[in-house]
Amino acid sequence: MYDIGIIGGGTAGLTAAIYGQRAGKQTVVFEGANYGGQIVFSPNVENYPGIASISGAQYSMNLMEQAANLGAEMKREAVTEVKDMEEGFVIVTAEQEYPCRTVILATGVTHRHLGLDKEEKLTGAGVSYCATCDGMFFRGRNTAVIGGGNTALQDAEFLANYCNKVYLVHRRDEFRGDAKNVEVLKQKDNVEFVLNAVPKELLGENMVEGLIVTDKNTGEEKMLDVAGVFVAIGHLPKNEAFAELAILDEGGFIAAGEDCTTSRPGIFAAGDCRTKEVRQLTTAAADGAVAALAAVKYMR
Ligand SMILES: Cc1cc2nc3c(=O)[nH]c(=O)nc-3n(C[C@H](O)[C@H](O)[C@H](O)COP(=O)(O)OP(=O)(O)OC[C@H]3O[C@@H](n4cnc5c(N)ncnc54)[C@H](O)[C@@H]3O)c2cc1C
Repeated sequence: MYDIGIIGGGTAGLTAAIYGQRAGKQTVVFEGANYGGQIVFSPNVENYPGIASISGAQYSMNLMEQAANLGAEMKREAVTEVKDMEEGFVIVTAEQEYPCRTVILATGVTHRHLGLDKEEKLTGAGVSYCATCDGMFFRGRNTAVIGGGNTALQDAEFLANYCNKVYLVHRRDEFRGDAKNVEVLKQKDNVEFVLNAVPKELLGENMVEGLIVTDKNTGEEKMLDVAGVFVAIGHLPKNEAFAELAILDEGGFIAAGEDCTTSRPGIFAAGDCRTKEVRQLTTAAADGAVAALAAVKYMR
């Protein structure tokens, strides 16, 4: 029986594993996709304290190795359910069932979709949710980034290095993202801001051949001649598998405050997956530490 079963191998989950192991508890980290989580595909992280600059891939590798070297077990398995048992919980994957005294949910978030007619069909054929993963395929082409937060701003900056032209489509005339990121884009000759505009239609049957946007103020439609549409409009939680535990808020995030405890004794939540304002590496790492130490205290 493991002391702490951690679901999700991103910054929150791996930090929890580090703190759990260092407290003398046996931890196991379940990861259904990539260790490191969302940050894996980011080319450069520059806001993690003490690390001036590092690629997301290198950061993820360092973090995973740090947890594994301390003795955390890594299971490359997606968790489908958490069940109660007499003294703790059973974490269920397609492969096996794992009894754990405590559980930390650190499942992160996924990408929000535009809801356009051909969006699903054209995903992978011009529609993408990860500029850093797919941007290279659009070298020399025109692309559009949809969104107004830091992810959209950073995606546009990244794409401007490869693409002939990048349209940044945002439904407001002000950005939610950092002013510094906006300034960087203003200096780029090949970035055009398309403000107060919402995507209306994806053109093309088998590949993206354009995007029609509507001006929110005038109703006027404009066709952007793009081969790629990068959607960066926010996140959705990935907690459906844990709905039965009755610990989700109305948005599907895990209802837990700064102390990372949920309404279920023995179950904790850490990182982007819980109800919170700021979703960043630093806040995910902080949650990982808090959740692991809360789990240790609970077991005493
Ligand atoms: C392109 C991009 C750039 C970013 N840049 C920065 C930056 O420069 N600085 C910064 O501070 N933040 C940045 N962020 C945000 C940062 O990456 C997140 O805040 C952080 O990764 C959250 O960590 P987390 O561990 O909570 O979740 P995640 O990183 O999302 O990790 C959750 C993990 O859980 C796994 N998982 C989910 N469900 C299950 C399941 N049922 N079973 C098993 N595994 C599961 C997922 O596969 C995932 O690996 C960026 C995000 C993106 C997308």
